[in-house]
Amino acid sequence: MKKHYQILVIGGGTGGIMTAAQLMKKNKKLDIGLVEPADTHYYQPAWTLVGAGTYDYEKTARPMASLIPKGVDWVKDYATALKPEKNVVSTKSSGDISYDYLVLSPGLVNDTSLIEGLTEAIDKGVVCSNYTDPEHTWKVLQNFKGGNALFTQPSTPIKCGGAPQKIAYLAADYFRKKGILKDSNVIFATPGTVIFGVQQIKETLLKVIDRYGMHFRPYYAPFKIDAENQIAYFKYTAPADKRVPIQEGNKIGETIDEKDVISIPFDMLHLAPPQTAPKFVKDSVLVNEAGWVEVDHHSLQHVAFANVFSLGDVTALPTAKTGAAIRKQVPIVVDNLLSLIKQEAVKNHSYNGYSSCPLVTGYGKMVLAEFDYKNNFTPDPKLKQMLIFDSSKEHWRLWILKKYMLPYLYWNKMMKGKNV
Ligand SMILES: Cc1cc2nc3c(=O)[nH]c(=O)nc-3n(C[C@H](O)[C@H](O)[C@H](O)COP(=O)(O)OP(=O)(O)OC[C@H]3O[C@@H](n4cnc5c(N)ncnc54)[C@H](O)[C@@H]3O)c2cc1C
Repeated sequence: MKKHYQILVIGGGTGGIMTAAQLMKKNKKLDIGLVEPADTHYYQPAWTLVGAGTYDYEKTARPMASLIPKGVDWVKDYATALKPEKNVVSTKSSGDISYDYLVLSPGLVNDTSLIEGLTEAIDKGVVCSNYTDPEHTWKVLQNFKGGNALFTQPSTPIKCGGAPQKIAYLAADYFRKKGILKDSNVIFATPGTVIFGVQQIKETLLKVIDRYGMHFRPYYAPFKIDAENQIAYFKYTAPADKRVPIQEGNKIGETIDEKDVISIPFDMLHLAPPQTAPKFVKDSVLVNEAGWVEVDHHSLQHVAFANVFSLGDVTALPTAKTGAAIRKQVPIVVDNLLSLIKQEAVKNHSYNGYSSCPLVTGYGKMVLAEFDYKNNFTPDPKLKQMLIFDSSKEHWRLWILKKYMLPYLYWNKMMKGKNV
């Protein structure tokens, strides 16, 4: 077993595989090790569709071995500690591995302990999450007979910030088709202040919410789930000028107490669990106060250790954590790494915070939010070739993109190191 690599990549998810594959495409002689414990790699974006019963879970999984690029050494192990001052990563069973350059992309972890009662409740009975078991979500939707269908998300950053509301729209559409929407209160409660940060997308989504008769509740920060009595508790964080009074005896059964604690009874609950960087990352010197890896926002080079790069969900980049963002981050990391190897300065500072969120708003309908650090709407000009001229509006062609084209591009282009 080798104890040193020129480039050590941590994580065989979207960011790790794509980076290793692009590096090998540029130079087959590179000496790359990739530390990844899992046997299976998942295409997580399709879990939203799995949860709505319109995509096969098995199709979201592929053996990790089939994705590790040829010529890259798979170190099938967990990274357990990062020691950048010594250029070393410790692992669970392969000991210490040293490197010349490090690429960190181990994603993030769900931490259900941050919401009281969630660890016991999640993925059981009427409590579900596309983040942990999308097949259970689909069972819960099918079993729902009317009443309160509650959708929420935590106060921590999460991957694909739009996913908690996508499943709410799909559920509302499913209840409509089943004829039970009129007997249901579909509630989307979020700690966020708006439905979406990009103005054009926000306008469309507010119309979608109206169409389904959904109840949108901003400034709701969930902190406790009582699964036995089927009640979710939120801290109401709205500033004085944004507060909306809660009427006694309202049809949702929502209450508020003198400490601004809101309770909502539910007949089903979907939520994104709280999410953090993995422990070995949080415990390292590479993170900011919130525990995310601190890299330059434009070059993705670590702010203190020049031979360390990081991308994907684990970073502290102030943009949405998505695979789409990684698609734009990888070529920059690859460029800059190759410059460093040639003893040149890091030249590529072009990452502008691009991220994208395919917001499915019903079966056969989607809006594509593409944006940058400043929340400017930045639609891909290539969409015109698909006859999509305004991706901020619902379109069936965008649904085709989500359900068929993006998975194809992921497995056949992104994972193979081809630029898309
Ligand atoms: C429900 C849902 C819907 C989503 N929808 C979309 C969408 O529509 N569009 C979109 O672009 N993105 C979407 N995403 C987000 C997207 O999947 C992630 O942003 C992306 O996969 C992040 O890539 P990553 O490489 O940072 O992490 P991941 O792909 O999660 O990979 C991390 C890898 O690191 C490995 N790892 C973890 N710990 C260690 C360790 N100690 N040592 C070594 N390896 C380790 C893991 O096993 C894993 O293989 C969605 C995600 C979810 C859950």
